[in-house]
Amino acid sequence: MSNCSSIKLYPKCLIGTQPLAITNNGHLIPCCQCDAMRNFDDPKYIEFLKHVKISDYDSIMEILTSDVWLLFEEGLMNNEGFKMCYIYCLTKEKTFKKQIFYNNNKKVAEVDDNSKHRQAK
Ligand code: SF4
Repeated sequence: MSNCSSIKLYPKCLIGTQPLAITNNGHLIPCCQCDAMRNFDDPKYIEFLKHVKISDYDSIMEILTSDVWLLFEEGLMNNEGFKMCYIYCLTKEKTFKKQIFYNNNKKVAEVDDNSKHRQAK
């Protein structure tokens, strides 16, 4: 699967905010965003589709517990997904800046990235 070490995935399908989808060709896919042009030339997605045709299984649960599906989910947990995952479910690692102001060795204020000033207690 695709991997981009500088980008961290936040897979909506794993945290339950993105439902499963079915393509018009009868494939069960992790979400509707997968059925997009950007994935159509992703070799990993093309291979994945070969294993998730609903008519090849007796139940949806059988697909969801299949090796190919579990490997896909494991990949997501390791920051590996289809091309579309890096667009739809991307979270860039963010570095937060925080400034702390002192007066006579006493903390008087804190300012973070959101420019929210906080008074020291
Ligand atoms: S784009 Fe990828 S990671 Fe995001 S919900 Fe869809 S399958 Fe999961």
